[in-house]
Amino acid sequence: MDIDKLRILGEASQYDLCNYVSLNQENFTSPNLPGIYHARTQSGCQVPLFKVLMSNHCTSDCNYCINHCHNRFDRIEFSPEELISVFLHYYQNHFAEGLFLSSGLPGDADVAMENMVEVARKLRLEYEYQGYIHLKVIPGASYDMIKRAMNLADRVSVNLESATSSGFQELTTTKDYHNDVLRRMKWIGRLKKRHHDLAPSGQSTQLIVGANHETDQDILKRAKWLHKHLNINLSYLSPFEPIDKTPLAGHTKPEEKRTPRLYQAQFLLNSYGFSLDEMVLDDEGFLFLDDDPKLLWAKAHPDMFPLEVNEASYKELLRVPGIGKKSAQRIMDARRNGKTFRKLDEIKKLGVVTKRAEPFIQMNHARQTTLSF
Ligand code: SF4
Repeated sequence: MDIDKLRILGEASQYDLCNYVSLNQENFTSPNLPGIYHARTQSGCQVPLFKVLMSNHCTSDCNYCINHCHNRFDRIEFSPEELISVFLHYYQNHFAEGLFLSSGLPGDADVAMENMVEVARKLRLEYEYQGYIHLKVIPGASYDMIKRAMNLADRVSVNLESATSSGFQELTTTKDYHNDVLRRMKWIGRLKKRHHDLAPSGQSTQLIVGANHETDQDILKRAKWLHKHLNINLSYLSPFEPIDKTPLAGHTKPEEKRTPRLYQAQFLLNSYGFSLDEMVLDDEGFLFLDDDPKLLWAKAHPDMFPLEVNEASYKELLRVPGIGKKSAQRIMDARRNGKTFRKLDEIKKLGVVTKRAEPFIQMNHARQTTLSF
């Protein structure tokens, strides 16, 4: 096996966070095992995946990407057999628990996808591999090719990259936002509805934060749309990283707190019942970086607080800073079993971050602390 090839095509895939929460990826790579990434899932587990490009040939001009078509270097690719042999070596030695396969776009999207689908087909049918496979759907791929990929993969993803069509045009001139990307995502959504067994883990997508003019409001609006129309609970967010020898090499990185704040706001929108209008944004449509969005909302609504823990509904509890979905459910369950809360310690044991919740709650009609803002 050509180790340089493995290293180059493994490293080239690292900026794709689909299916994994954005963390400092550098800490999660394995320098001695090219292509292995230890990433953290939404549930908090770390999973080693073999994450790699089939090929870095690309006719697209995404100006943030090392593989963009105007960059001159020798292009390389794996044959399906080479890639399968590396993956099975990693899998059988427990270095990788699954495969995440992507590719550059060498002209025809279906040509690139054919190779990825062939890897998945051989693994499933010839090697009887039952484990996790995530296949990237290349923008512009045909409906039939996408269906074949979904038939073999646990999860598929198309990277949307931008929240708006105008933002997308700032990043590439060779792909069409509505046709090549969004339309393919809608096909996947429709196929999933009709055939539940296709790609059982569903589809995911990634947006880049800070590479174009888009505001947090733009990004949150798109994340909400993706949730509502395509059942994507969490859109993965990749903070823009300037890369040498790319047209955006001199572009500034987004502030470090921007992406985590966007994740928090996205959870509020898609899992906590908040609306876009309730997000506290500055005049230009950006979240405030110094406080989490839920705390800012609560501070802006003193009329809603303090909330009586022994009487509040589940939805109302979710509005309290420091009370998440699990702790709200535990409070409701305990109350249903006859419990009346009197002390902070009692809800602390259920997972409530009492330091945050304290100014916003009362128990047995006794206020915990006074709102001091
Ligand atoms: S399509 Fe764009 S992001 Fe993907 S490899 Fe080509 S230049 Fe990079």
